[in-house]
Amino acid sequence: MADELTFSDEIANLLHASHGNPLNTCIQCGTCSGTCPSAPFMKHSPRRIIAMINADMKEDVVNSNTYWFCASCFHCTVRCPREIDIAELMYALKRYSMWNQQYQEDLIGPTFSETFVKTIFGSGRSYEPVLATSYLFSFGVPEFIQEAQTATTLMLKGRLPVLPARIKGLKNFRRMLGRIIPIGGLE
Ligand code: SF4
Ligand code: SF4
Repeated sequence: MADELTFSDEIANLLHASHGNPLNTCIQCGTCSGTCPSAPFMKHSPRRIIAMINADMKEDVVNSNTYWFCASCFHCTVRCPREIDIAELMYALKRYSMWNQQYQEDLIGPTFSETFVKTIFGSGRSYEPVLATSYLFSFGVPEFIQEAQTATTLMLKGRLPVLPARIKGLKNFRRMLGRIIPIGGLE
């Protein structure tokens, strides 16, 4: 019987690495954390999250805000002495978290991501007015009013569509999407 994958191997598989598990090559130098602009807001720094993945601390990793707070700036990726694609790792953790429906409550990221995928699946295009409702209510009233005013102005100027546009060949697009990501419940 094949050995069960470790959490580290599961995540490494999502990185599409050509050979081996790149996470195991981390030397914990801390360059990624030192260069990360979002680190002060993360529950665990990028360096620590890799150590936790390798230590099989799955629950703590998926329930941390770290990967949702990644700004995809790729500073860490270009500076890692082991050439680990840490930015892609953050995306891999997001995918893992969404597919397993496990993430820290009270974060905007998961709801936003789910709404985005549903919008794309529904019409083949992103549609900002629907996306905005996934996070706008989390802000204060003044910010909400300001965003609503901006959206209204954009709509009046024709910069924001009133109704979502649909792409041609939506059926084929959905079929293709279904091969890439688990979209159970969307059909
Ligand atoms: S920069 Fe690379 S080697 Fe250093 S701690 Fe981060 S992931 Fe590990
Ligand atoms: S890509 Fe993400 S984890 Fe890496 S430095 Fe930028 S914000 Fe930090």
